[in-house]
Amino acid sequence: MRHGEAVAGAAPAERMRAIWGVLAGVPDPEIPVISVVDLGIVRTVTADPPRVTITPTYTGCPATQAIERAIRAALDEAGFSEVAVATVISPPWSTDWISNEGRRKLRDFGISPPPRGDGRGHLVETKPSVCPHCGSVETEEISRFGSTPCKALWRCRSCAEPFDQFKCH
Ligand SMILES: [Zn+2]
Repeated sequence: MRHGEAVAGAAPAERMRAIWGVLAGVPDPEIPVISVVDLGIVRTVTADPPRVTITPTYTGCPATQAIERAIRAALDEAGFSEVAVATVISPPWSTDWISNEGRRKLRDFGISPPPRGDGRGHLVETKPSVCPHCGSVETEEISRFGSTPCKALWRCRSCAEPFDQFKCH
């Protein structure tokens, strides 16, 4: 029996918890080490009407549609096909919505998230960018495009290691 069917007759709170659990297993298409929940893309889960609202990290980013598709597929897979996925763009996504766990995963992945409270609209190159390897701020942008179109490639002048910096997430 799929998860959605198992909790079909369950209390709304239990169903919502199960849906959050499904979403926590959906990786961000751009940064697969972090889930859409940790990234703060999932805003609300409601039981009546059954709906998940998401706020894309950046509306111009090609990953946006991929995120919605991935969430839809995960919900269907888990037996929650009646749950709608709605996109809201206001208020806009903020880096403050990244969970502490998400921040740790981003740093382990080599991305330096801005400090909480900074409230940036996107994970953008911070000048100076802090090297995720050694913590140095002696860094420089060496390419507008990193491993994906949403990242720029930076290099640390202290340890010479390259790292990705988000510019449109
Ligand atoms: Zn370094």
